[in-house]
Amino acid sequence: MNSLWNENEAANCRNDLELRAYSSRLLGQDKSLVLHGGGNTSVKGTRANIFGEVEDVLFVKGSGWDLETIQPRGFTPVRLSHLVRLARLNSLTDMQMVNEFRAATLDPAAPGPSVEAILHATIPFRFVDHTHADAVVTLTNSSGGQARIQDLYGDRLIVIPYLMPGFELAQYCARAFAREAHAGTVGMVLMNHGIFTWAEEARTSYELMVSLVGEAERVIATASRSAPSAVAASEPMTPVEKAELRREISSAAGFPVLVTSNRSANVQRFLSRADVTQLTQQGPATPDHIIRTKRIPMLGTDKLAVDTYVADYKRYFADNVQAYGGDAVRMVDPAPRVVLDVNHGTLFAVGRTAKDCRIANEIYEHTMRIQENAEALGGWRSLPQNRLFQVEYWDLEQAKLALAGKPALFTGEIALVTGAARGIGAACVASLLARGAVVIGVDIAAQPAATNANYHPIICDLADDAAVDAMVSKATALFGGLDILILNAGIFPSGKAIAQMDAEFWRKVQTINVDSNAALMRCCHPFLARAPQGGRVVVVGSKNVPAPGPGAAAYSASKAALTQLARVAAMEWGVDHIRVNIIHPNAVFDTGLWTDDILRSRAASYGLTVEQYRKNNILGVEIASRDVAELAAEMCGPIFAKTTGAQVPLDGGNDRVI
Ligand code: ZN
Repeated sequence: MNSLWNENEAANCRNDLELRAYSSRLLGQDKSLVLHGGGNTSVKGTRANIFGEVEDVLFVKGSGWDLETIQPRGFTPVRLSHLVRLARLNSLTDMQMVNEFRAATLDPAAPGPSVEAILHATIPFRFVDHTHADAVVTLTNSSGGQARIQDLYGDRLIVIPYLMPGFELAQYCARAFAREAHAGTVGMVLMNHGIFTWAEEARTSYELMVSLVGEAERVIATASRSAPSAVAASEPMTPVEKAELRREISSAAGFPVLVTSNRSANVQRFLSRADVTQLTQQGPATPDHIIRTKRIPMLGTDKLAVDTYVADYKRYFADNVQAYGGDAVRMVDPAPRVVLDVNHGTLFAVGRTAKDCRIANEIYEHTMRIQENAEALGGWRSLPQNRLFQVEYWDLEQAKLALAGKPALFTGEIALVTGAARGIGAACVASLLARGAVVIGVDIAAQPAATNANYHPIICDLADDAAVDAMVSKATALFGGLDILILNAGIFPSGKAIAQMDAEFWRKVQTINVDSNAALMRCCHPFLARAPQGGRVVVVGSKNVPAPGPGAAAYSASKAALTQLARVAAMEWGVDHIRVNIIHPNAVFDTGLWTDDILRSRAASYGLTVEQYRKNNILGVEIASRDVAELAAEMCGPIFAKTTGAQVPLDGGNDRVI
């Protein structure tokens, strides 16, 4: 571990708070120090109030901020004297603590201060840094860990036994500091939790953290020197098996979840260990991971594994709830967040959002390394169940999850949209993303790299059956299945009378508008049939189905065939709880197919202005891609929960259709 301190960047910081933000980001950049909101930092300073009086202030990391990206405004200013006095109380409930934090915060708009604010306040140094460093928790979570920590750090660090974060821990640390600190004390180790360092200078406190954690890393490197053994390659799970797993876990959770997979060499090696059960079935590396990963991962992937996991979780809740919660505490969903599949050498991460999956996966990658290293040091030892339960059901931890608010309509669901690069397809992508789905956007054209983590563009020529098959396997493997399919891709060739139409032209229109959709539906069916809340298909048809026009035979016939295909699917797939509905849009001019020139000439051929032509329907309204997309999205939602096989016009009213 090396210091990332850069004197030039530090020199750009205009005050202590900016320096605090800078060195906090250095900590946050190193995932072996802190992961996803873990760790916290502070700086003490002063601030003049409105009366001109100067007060001592603790600027402490606000909740919701991540050290990796924190800015000066991410530090909440809290009256220092108030926090120091709180530490001297005999007791303080969590709710009282949160109240006092609010009362002592000098900026009402600032985020809630870290739950470790009192602890930071009681350390009489300007800069205080706290991380959950992998190397330190590896030592503290191994058998004989406390002795090893004391051997390593001597009296430079005060060793604190495991205590609940918050008031209990702050009070203990303040007393331990008063009792044990001397001129050479530079920090504290918190057993099964992490490490604190402090100093008058930002750089000193940061570099103490780096060097002390580096010392722990060297102890680990010496103990786990054996070369990693080669592992026989295992076959990955098939996409359909994965969809089955996702459905079982979603059913246990009570809501749809996403399932991502990780088959890195490290994962495969870890899962080939003979002691994988004993290592993984104890608990997390540091208790605050529990809200992301649950206490333990699920081992195995079949229905029995899920049922066993759920039964164990319920037992764990029942065993601990009276002592650490009481009747008012409600059990969270009992579904796993990490699944270890020894047979396929795969770590599955489970979450309601792609971000949740990423966090659970990343935390568990660190956890595996910590468990292996602690085992090499003499034996991995996690905290006992009751201590972990106390953190999992701590109001202040559950509040972090509640911050996310009510999930959007399609949270945890996976949608696939064809013809996603532009027009109606692009609008469907936007409408589904806005409703919380992860969306796979398929197009023959390359799309710009996605800036939204929930959007995954895939290039595919839908006219090629083999390519469709491969694309569906790839798309469904991303998050473990498919819930929503929007069949939008199609071509609208320029008019050709039947007498002038050659076979190739006819064939091409049918291939793209009908055959490719039939292939796609066939490939997607096994996944839609395993959608946790039932699959949904929306077909973008055309006004030309009920009201064809001369010169558009190939197009009208193809859309009519597609409509018939969808109607039969609605009948065949109802038994699988898949709904299939059809939209017949007309005159959607913002699709890119319609250039200004084409619009002008079409309008002229009807004797209309472009403005009149755009709104040439009974209601006199213009139809936009977004209108089609919003209807498509709603057709996948609860309003249409009991509708299948419907054909809904979206044309502003057309007397030939009505
Ligand atoms: Zn902590």
